[in-house]
Amino acid sequence: MKLFASAAEMRAVPRSAEFRNGAVSFWFRQTGLPERRAALPGAADYDVCVVGGGYTGLWTAYYLKKAQPDLRIAILEREFAGFGASGRNGGWLSAEFAGSRERYASSHGKGAVIALQRAMMRSVDEVITTAEAEGIDADIVKGGMRLVATNPAQQARLLEEVRYLQEWGFWPEDLYLLDPVTGGGPRLQVDGAVAAAHSPHAARIQPAKLAIGLARVVESLGVDIFEDTAVTEIRPAKDGARAAAVTPHGEVGAEHVIRATEGFTASLQGRRRDWLPMSSSMIATEPLGAEMWEHIGWEGREVLGDTAHAYIYAQRTSDDRIAIGGRGAPYRFGSGHDDNGATPPQAIAELWRVLARLFPVAASVPVAHAWSGVLGVPRDWCPTVHLDRETGLGWAGGYVGSGVTTSNLAGRTLCDLVLGRETDLTRLPWVGRRVRGWEPEPLRWVGSQVVHGLYRGADRRESDRVSHTSRLADIAGRIAGR
Ligand SMILES: Cc1cc2nc3c(=O)[nH]c(=O)nc-3n(C[C@H](O)[C@H](O)[C@H](O)COP(=O)(O)OP(=O)(O)OC[C@H]3O[C@@H](n4cnc5c(N)ncnc54)[C@H](O)[C@@H]3O)c2cc1C
Repeated sequence: MKLFASAAEMRAVPRSAEFRNGAVSFWFRQTGLPERRAALPGAADYDVCVVGGGYTGLWTAYYLKKAQPDLRIAILEREFAGFGASGRNGGWLSAEFAGSRERYASSHGKGAVIALQRAMMRSVDEVITTAEAEGIDADIVKGGMRLVATNPAQQARLLEEVRYLQEWGFWPEDLYLLDPVTGGGPRLQVDGAVAAAHSPHAARIQPAKLAIGLARVVESLGVDIFEDTAVTEIRPAKDGARAAAVTPHGEVGAEHVIRATEGFTASLQGRRRDWLPMSSSMIATEPLGAEMWEHIGWEGREVLGDTAHAYIYAQRTSDDRIAIGGRGAPYRFGSGHDDNGATPPQAIAELWRVLARLFPVAASVPVAHAWSGVLGVPRDWCPTVHLDRETGLGWAGGYVGSGVTTSNLAGRTLCDLVLGRETDLTRLPWVGRRVRGWEPEPLRWVGSQVVHGLYRGADRRESDRVSHTSRLADIAGRIAGR
């Protein structure tokens, strides 16, 4: 794999006449951008104020209102519900949990980490059954997760990954290798695959439909959602004054203020170094014809990923496109990002090259849309959920690239924490962890460029069919602090 796509390779990408770059995401192109709700009319007072209307904020409000209908809850959202990663992601509702198992185990023991993994599996089903019960149609199909390796080093890593995860809560029926000869599992023809693994604990979703549906349900339960309302600062309770979210429209005082701003957290006063905003990019093709699908298979609608260091994630959409994503231009100096999701041509070309390599029959299918979004990366790459009773402040996030399911677990956990319940959820090892912040600029930018380059270099070396993980990846991992 080459480090950068050349100009000729960029020109080679077939694009449809209606090709769009950005415009939030292809998922919102399918649904249409939602009509904006009213902004906060002025200073206000609530029991719980949630900052951020993505999955984390919406699930938190949902479970709180279900548990205690008389709670007065507001969600303050800078743009519109689902505008962030929740309306842009790859639609992997999977049991994958980011973060080092060993780190969590060092404070809570191995059993607690296994409990966390099992809770993630149940969360996949929780999202599916809740969506169904609440009448949210998010094109959900629980076809499982397929991981493929396309060179010997990836294969060795995949085998190791399966063995490793089976020690940490995935039992043999939860994640297993597929037979290289007979395949086993539904047919999914990935060119050059030398090994594959399957887990039943994953579903494909249409991300924006889930966000739109959740916002509608939460609102119907009596939660006030204020859009076009940017919070500039979150203040802790102090000297008898309640915690507050500060906006240009006025302050919202509340018993609890929950920060659910993930990749945007750096824009809040005093939070610049908490979570690094890393971007991830996607492309979606035009729908593939029946003959192509005949060749590829993918009847099971599994979510599909590989085991490269700069890994990709993909799904077959409900209208028969391939949507595929990966780390595009991962980090911008000063924690900046493009709000609307415009994606650099190099990232589009790189994603298309991977698509054409994995599915050569689809190489002629025009790309209809490209977009990007930001995820939140903590310094130790481990997600956290927390509520501080003294200050009234809570938060959840730092999910790295695996927040679709994790945000549901976070929402249920924050609900228990706010209501002062001690439950199996509040005892999970990601609750209450404190993580140090990222280095100041320019160190942060330089470090992320080096790590990104090393991972790509490792992928390039491994594609030369070496049978082991490149040392460059080890170095990158050590620099990144993973
Ligand atoms: C391209 C891409 C692909 C991904 N693919 C997957 C995947 O397939 N599976 C998976 O598990 N995870 C995936 N992720 C990660 C996953 O989407 C996120 O972890 C998850 O959506 C985070 O939800 P959230 O509610 O915490 O954050 P977000 O959805 O980002 O929501 C935060 C919200 O806060 C609002 N906000 C920010 N700042 C302020 C402020 N100051 N005041 C008021 N509101 C504010 C934003 O507008 C936004 O709506 C992907 C992410 C991206 C970007």
